[in-house]
Amino acid sequence: MKYLWGLAVFMTIVLITSPIPAYETDIIETPEGAIKITFIGHASLVMEFEGKIIHIDPVGQYGDYARLPKADLILVTHEHYDHFDPRVIKDIRKKETIIIGNGHVTRSIPEAVTLKNGEEKTVWGFNVLAVPAYNIVHFRAPGVPFHPKGEGNGYLISLGKTRVYIAGDTENVPEMKNLKGVDIAFLPMNLPYTMTPEMVADAVRAFRPRILYPYHYGDTNISRLVELLKDEKGIEIRIRKMK
Ligand code: ZN
Ligand code: ZN
Repeated sequence: MKYLWGLAVFMTIVLITSPIPAYETDIIETPEGAIKITFIGHASLVMEFEGKIIHIDPVGQYGDYARLPKADLILVTHEHYDHFDPRVIKDIRKKETIIIGNGHVTRSIPEAVTLKNGEEKTVWGFNVLAVPAYNIVHFRAPGVPFHPKGEGNGYLISLGKTRVYIAGDTENVPEMKNLKGVDIAFLPMNLPYTMTPEMVADAVRAFRPRILYPYHYGDTNISRLVELLKDEKGIEIRIRKMK
């Protein structure tokens, strides 16, 4: 009994003193104001601009969403469990929150807005364009890509004049390489589902974002990507904890 009390006191102290999870954040100054990016983990991000909170692929496994601000806009790239968590969406949405997803996502959230590849919508003054996200090389089985063409989305969102591209689960597909005027890009880099460092480097050399954040990178060797891009001028690689 005495031992149990001791344990209880000890656990209470541990709980009280354990820090609130601190996420990495970046502030990017733009002529229209600062963009604050909070790096939750894997593919989960929060962006804040002009007082609006945008959650991207919010998933409870990567963050403590009870301690994060509620969303004005939620973007979900596709329905895989590491991108789409309906329970978290329920927790972070307000009455006026706009939710955008692909067809598989919005099927389970009827009031959400479906964007097919190539479609766009302006929400809270921010234009959101759905960019195709799919595999061309990596397949689950012969003829069955991990991400079939025409299903998943990446999103190109305009925050003021700053264009932020969140690629979703994809490879270096022509639609990505043809993008123009991307300022900030989040590109996935884990196998077998998305890209190798070589594929990321190939894409980046084509559409040349000003800032590149590799994300959704699992155990992929990040230093390989840094090495591949070391001679590229005008592309800044920023590594954050987005395993
Ligand atoms: Zn996926
Ligand atoms: Zn994924």
